[in-house]
Amino acid sequence: MSSHKHPLGTVAELGEEAVGGLSKALSGELILPDHSEYNDARDVWNGLVNRYPAVVVRATGGQDVATAVSFAREHGLDLSVRGGAHQQAGDAVVDNGLVVDLSECDEITVDPERQVATVGPGNRAEDVLAETQEYGLAMPTGSAGCVGIPGTTLNGGVGWIRRKHGLSVDALRSMEVVTADGSLVEASPDTNTDLFWAMRGGDGNFGVVTNFEFDLYEVGPVVGALNVFYPADIVDEVLRTYRDFAADAPEELTTIVNYGEIPAIPPMPDHLHGEEAVGLIGCYTGDPEEGMETVAPLREVGDPLIDASDVMPYEALHEVGTLMHP
Ligand SMILES: Cc1cc2nc3c(=O)[nH]c(=O)nc-3n(C[C@H](O)[C@H](O)[C@H](O)COP(=O)(O)OP(=O)(O)OC[C@H]3O[C@@H](n4cnc5c(N)ncnc54)[C@H](O)[C@@H]3O)c2cc1C
Repeated sequence: MSSHKHPLGTVAELGEEAVGGLSKALSGELILPDHSEYNDARDVWNGLVNRYPAVVVRATGGQDVATAVSFAREHGLDLSVRGGAHQQAGDAVVDNGLVVDLSECDEITVDPERQVATVGPGNRAEDVLAETQEYGLAMPTGSAGCVGIPGTTLNGGVGWIRRKHGLSVDALRSMEVVTADGSLVEASPDTNTDLFWAMRGGDGNFGVVTNFEFDLYEVGPVVGALNVFYPADIVDEVLRTYRDFAADAPEELTTIVNYGEIPAIPPMPDHLHGEEAVGLIGCYTGDPEEGMETVAPLREVGDPLIDASDVMPYEALHEVGTLMHP
C-alpha cells in the first residue's frame, strides 16, 4: 500500500452518519474497502498502480456525480475520476480519497440522420464503434478499442481517421459537466463557452463529464488497412520511401510508423516474435479498394517479414490495437 494510512481508518474518521448519509443520497452503489467489489472498483490498466481509496461511488448519472463531488469537497477528501481506467499513470484512482467510478454510465444513443451520438463516460472506443458502425458511422476514437472515451477525449484522442476527421476532441459538440461546486451544467460552443474551451485538453481538471455529444462521420464498416513489417536492416530505405509518400498522401489515409520488436501476439507468426522490425500501419477511410491501391507503394519497399494489409472491418483495426496492449 503506497499510503501509510489504512483506508478503513479514513472511513472511520468520516463517521457512520456521514457515510450512511452519502449512501442514502446516491442511486448508485457506495463501495467501501470491506465491499466484495472493492478490488474491481480500484483496478486500473497499469498493473503497477495499486491505490486504496476510502470511498468509491459507482455513479449512475450526473446527480450521483454531483453528490460525490460535494461530499469530497465538504469532507476534504482527494477526488479522482475513473472512466475507462486506461491512463498509464493510473490517475483514475486515489489513495484514501473518493473515486467517482463512471463504469455504469454507459448509455449510447445514435441519431444516424443527424450523424450525432450521445455517449456516457462509462464507454470504451469499442462500445461506441459497435453502435455506430451499424450505420457505417464513426466518431474519432483512440486506435485501440479498449481505451475509455472520457479520458481519451479530454486529452485529445488520436486514432485511425485523424487526418480526415481530426481527434476525438474535434468531434465534441457538447458535454454535461459537474463542476467543483457540485453544479451540473452544459458546456458547448454556445453555453459555458469558457468551460467548453478549458475541458478540451484539460483532462479532468475543470469538471467531471457525465455525458458527451459527438459528431459522427461516414467511415467503414469496411476499410483498407495497411499492416506491413520490414526487417530492421532496411529501416533507412523504408523511412525514406515513407517520407516521400507521406508528403502527398490523401487525407483519407492515416498512417503510423512503428519501430521495435514484433510482439508475441496471435496475428504475428511465432518465429518472428521478438525480432526487430519497422512497421507501416494505416487506415484508408474512403473506398477500401482505392485504399489498397493507394498504399501499394508502401508494401513494395523490400521483402516484408509480414504483410497483413487487407480490406477489413473498421472495428477489427481497433481489436488489433487492443491485442497489442493487453
Ligand atoms: C493500451 C493503450 C492504448 C492507448 N491508445 C491510445 C490511442 O490510440 N489514442 C490516444 O489518443 N490515446 C491512447 N491511449 C491513451 C489513453 O487514451 C489515455 O490514457 C486516456 O486518458 C484513457 O482514457 P480512460 O477514460 O480509459 O481514462 P482513465 O484512466 O479512466 O482516466 C484518465 C484521466 O481522465 C480523467 N477522467 C476520466 N473520465 C473523466 C470524466 N468523465 N470527466 C473528467 N475527467 C475524467 C481521469 O480522472 C484521469 O485523470 C492509450 C492508452 C493505453 C494504455
